[in-house]
Amino acid sequence: MSTPAPPRVVVLGGGSAGWITACLLHHQWGERGGSVTVVESPEIGIIGVGEGSTPQLKAFFEHLGIAEADWMPACDATYKLGIRFTGWSERTGCESYFHPFPGPVDLHSEPGFLHNCALRRRGVDVPAHPDDWFLAEALSEGRKSPIPEENFPFGPSYGYHFDAHKLGAFLRDWATKRGVTHRATRVEEVELTPDGDVAALLCDDGERIEGDIFVDCSGFRSLIAQQRLGAPFIPFGENLFNDRAVVMPTAHREPVKPQTDSIAMSGGWRWSIPLTSRVGNGYVYSSKYISDEDAEAELRKAIGMEDQGDARVLQMRVGRVADSWTGNCLAAGLSQGFIEPLEATALHIVIVTALDFARAYESGGFTAQNREEFNWRIAAKYEGIRDYIVAHYRLNQRSDTAYWRDNAANHALSDDLKAMMTAWFTHEDIGRLNAEQHGGNPHYANMSWHCLFAGYGTFPPQAKMQAPPPGLHISDVEQTRAMLAACASNFPDYAPA
Ligand SMILES: Cc1cc2nc3c(=O)[nH]c(=O)nc-3n(C[C@H](O)[C@H](O)[C@H](O)COP(=O)(O)OP(=O)(O)OC[C@H]3O[C@@H](n4cnc5c(N)ncnc54)[C@H](O)[C@@H]3O)c2cc1C
Repeated sequence: MSTPAPPRVVVLGGGSAGWITACLLHHQWGERGGSVTVVESPEIGIIGVGEGSTPQLKAFFEHLGIAEADWMPACDATYKLGIRFTGWSERTGCESYFHPFPGPVDLHSEPGFLHNCALRRRGVDVPAHPDDWFLAEALSEGRKSPIPEENFPFGPSYGYHFDAHKLGAFLRDWATKRGVTHRATRVEEVELTPDGDVAALLCDDGERIEGDIFVDCSGFRSLIAQQRLGAPFIPFGENLFNDRAVVMPTAHREPVKPQTDSIAMSGGWRWSIPLTSRVGNGYVYSSKYISDEDAEAELRKAIGMEDQGDARVLQMRVGRVADSWTGNCLAAGLSQGFIEPLEATALHIVIVTALDFARAYESGGFTAQNREEFNWRIAAKYEGIRDYIVAHYRLNQRSDTAYWRDNAANHALSDDLKAMMTAWFTHEDIGRLNAEQHGGNPHYANMSWHCLFAGYGTFPPQAKMQAPPPGLHISDVEQTRAMLAACASNFPDYAPA
């Protein structure tokens, strides 16, 4: 099949998803005669949250050739080496653990961690807490930059924290300077062709915007994909209880660590995200277990803002569209789906969606096979991320509120997740099982699953642990910590704010 002509792309929505997609598709087709138009309504505005990323955002900027020195200061951005989970387990010694982004140094330490986890799962009393085995944790605790000195070419992968409004504005300026058209107007109607494809967007100022491909980045409204084309929505509510968030910023009170903090609360969890200019805070909760007022009060108390500052409550629609690509419409961002922000994966999926779509389109345009394969891959990505996030709730080791008890008793789990849990408890190789799941393309690595299980202390109770028998090989945690400390000394201090 011949490569289709570069298309005229119309993106509805100027939030992070809209501008990320516009930049990527312009990069793909702009120089070959394609065009990208972004239509957004300033009066509707953007959701304005979403301040944490995975390393995929780094790959995005590198793909576009945008240097950190250009975008990070403009977006109040800081580095992120991983997420520290605090209070998700009541087990002694498991009050908190770090989920790191991996790097080449971890290739030396990870096998030791996996080995000790395997022993501990069998009741052998050996050290297997994730914090002891990964460079990113050592760097974050030491308030180090993820970028090593020149003599040490083994930096870990990393993501960022950023101001969502400023990121959108930066990308808008970058894109429009390179030829992306920006229309500030409200779309009133979506005109269809007799075949049911999208023909044009009809705007309240009378403009009719035609295109070949329409990308729906209209946020939770999902104006084209769900409202006009009727794309079915698959809710994740029975797996993931949280449906609200209350957010409010605070000033910096202590030096920045390059990490997101994810702290368990009575009816959910709260994030603490350090930007250069402020700290972003948000409590993600289930309205079935706590009211908006009580959640706001609990957040205010936790961050020391009882009597000051404005809080904003957001509703979250958790799930995904059955098919991200319908006819000539691609859904991306909140219009496509949302899992919940625990692992900060939303923009990651936006980037993957746009890049994969461009590849699929190039390989033959609007064929049913292209669409089906693409939709299958994106659906598998959502399910893979969802399962890992659901595992945080299902495996929680708290008993203080009905929210945590009900999560721990939740049996509405996918078969893949059930298989992972069974494998862990029956001492099977979860790495091999993980590699086979989600079409052989699991989103989370074996290391991440081990950090989750081990970080919660999902091992036999301490009273049942046996001392290691003589001669048993045990990975040396002290030696590993010393190796990581030596590596960490090659990284400069990090003090962005
Ligand atoms: C509580 C919370 C925390 C989150 N945390 C993270 C995180 O840490 N990391 C992460 O990656 N993601 C996170 N997300 C998700 C993230 O916020 C979104 O993925 C991201 O902001 C992209 O949103 P969007 O562009 O899809 O939608 P929006 O920002 O809502 O943008 C929608 C756009 O569509 C336009 N629009 C809508 N209707 C019309 C119309 N009729 N005419 C014209 N324009 C229209 C609006 O004007 C706006 O420009 C979080 C989300 C929530 C709710």
